[in-house]
Amino acid sequence: MSASVRVRFAPSPTGPLHMGGVRTALYNYLFAKKHNGTFILRIEDTDQTRLVDKAESYIKESLEWCGLQPDESPWKDGKYGPYRQSERKHLYRQYAEQLIKEDKAYYAFDTAEELDAMREKAKKAKMPNWQYNSVTRNSMKNSLTLSEDEVKAKLDNNEPYTIRLKVPRNEEVRFHDEIRGWVVVNSSNIDDKVIFKGDGMPTYHLANIVDDHLMKITHVIRGEEWLPSAPLHVLLYRFLGWEDTMPTFAHLPLILKPDGNGKLSKRDGDRLGFPVFPLQWINDETGEISMGYREQGYFPEAFINTLAFLGWNPGTNQEIFTLSELVEAFSLERVGKAGAKFDAKKTEWYNQQYLRTKDNKTLAELIEPQLADNKIEIDRDRLYSIIELTKERATFPGDILKEAEFFFEAPSTYDERTVSKKWKENTPELLNKVKDRFGGTDYSASELELAFKAILEDESIGFGKLGPQLRLALTGKGMGPSLFQICELLGKEETEARIKRAIEEIS
Ligand code: GLU
Repeated sequence: MSASVRVRFAPSPTGPLHMGGVRTALYNYLFAKKHNGTFILRIEDTDQTRLVDKAESYIKESLEWCGLQPDESPWKDGKYGPYRQSERKHLYRQYAEQLIKEDKAYYAFDTAEELDAMREKAKKAKMPNWQYNSVTRNSMKNSLTLSEDEVKAKLDNNEPYTIRLKVPRNEEVRFHDEIRGWVVVNSSNIDDKVIFKGDGMPTYHLANIVDDHLMKITHVIRGEEWLPSAPLHVLLYRFLGWEDTMPTFAHLPLILKPDGNGKLSKRDGDRLGFPVFPLQWINDETGEISMGYREQGYFPEAFINTLAFLGWNPGTNQEIFTLSELVEAFSLERVGKAGAKFDAKKTEWYNQQYLRTKDNKTLAELIEPQLADNKIEIDRDRLYSIIELTKERATFPGDILKEAEFFFEAPSTYDERTVSKKWKENTPELLNKVKDRFGGTDYSASELELAFKAILEDESIGFGKLGPQLRLALTGKGMGPSLFQICELLGKEETEARIKRAIEEIS
C-alpha cells in the first residue's frame, strides 16, 4: 500500500452504538493496524435534530471497553482535527459555494409544503417515486429556473433555501469496491441530494466527503447500508476535483438475524434474549433499559472475536483470535459479500473459552460483588481453588458461584433423577465404606482417588455404582467438577457429615 493508510469510523451520536457499528469500528481498526496506519474516530453530528445526549460518551466508552482506541479522535487531537463535525461547521460552506460557482450545485427555494404537494401530485399521476432530479428540477423553484436577480433578492431577504447537487443526466458513475467489485450506476438514478441546509449546516453527504478528503482518508470501510450513497459520493469527489485521491471503498456485509431473515435489530435481541449493544443503554425518555454485552458478563475479547467472524474468516480452522492475532490475520479480501448470520450461542462459546484462560485472581475479583451480595466470606486461597475447579463449567463469571454453590452450603435437596436411577439399597452401606476408607487418608484428592478405586475393586463394581451416589451426597447434583477435588476442598468433617445426612434424607 503506497500512501500511509488512514481510516475512520464515523458514527452519528443518535443513540446507543449497535454491535454492527462496533464491527465497523473493529474492521477499520484491524485494517489500520495491519498496515501500520492510523485509525480515526470522527463524530458526525451535523444533524442536530437527531442528537442524543450521552450517545457520544457511549461510543467512547464502548470503544474503550473493546480495546479499539482511535489514534485521532475528539478526545485525542491530531493534526486534522477537530474531529467533531459540529466544530468544523465553518469549513463546509465554501465547498458548497464552489460547486454552485462551477454550475455543479444550485440553490433550491422550494418549501417543505411545496415539495410535499409535488410528491402528492406525482402519486396521483401514478408516479409514486418522485425525485428532485435532472428532469423535475426544471419545474421547481431554484437558481436554475429563477433569474439571477430573483435569486439574489431571495438570498438578500434571507429566504430559506437548501443547496442541491446538480446530478447530471445519464452518465455512468462507477467505482471499485474492495468487497463487491465494480459498482456501476447510471446517474439518472441518483436524485439531486441536498448537500447544504438553510440552517448553515452541511448534510451528511457533503460533510462526510469534505472531511474524508481533508483528513486524508485512504479507505472508507463502512456498513452495506451506505452502498446506495456511494455513487453520489463518487460524484461529489469528481465535482470537487478530488477524484485522484478518492478513498477506496469497502462496504461490509449486513449482520443478519439468527434465521438469516433480514437485518439483525434490537427487537431480535429482545425477543431471543441476547444483547445487540456493547454496553447497557438506558433511554432517558422512556426509562427503557437495553442489555449490554459488558453487563451480561461477556468479556470484550469474546465480543470482539464474535464480531470479527461476522463477515470475515481467516481461511483456516482457527477460531480463537486475540485482537493482535486478528490484526495479523485480517484482510479485506477475506471479507465476504453475503450477509453474516448472528449466532448468540457462538458468542457464549467464545465467552466460555476466554473465561477458561482467565487466572483465578481475575475471576475472584469479578465475582467479588456477588460474594458480598450473598454475604459469603471466604479465604482467598480456598476461593481460588474453588474457582479453579468450577471455571471449566462456567460461561460467565456469574456462573462460577452457581456451580460452586454447594461449597458454601450443604445440599438441602437431591437431584431426583440421580436418586431414582442410582440410589440403590446397598448405597448407604457403600457410602459408609467410603467414609471409613477416606478417613484413613490425608484427604488429598490423589489419595482419596486411590482409596475410592480400592473400594471399587474390593466390591467388584464400576465407578457408576458409587461415584454418582457420592457426588449426590456431597453436592445434591448429578453432575459437577472432579469428585475427589470436591472432597479435598470440603475436608474430612464436612464430607463425612454430608454423607451421613444424605443417607438419612434419601434412604
Ligand atoms: N455517519 C455515518 C453513520 O452514522 C457514517 C457513514 C460512513 O461511514 O460514511 O454511519
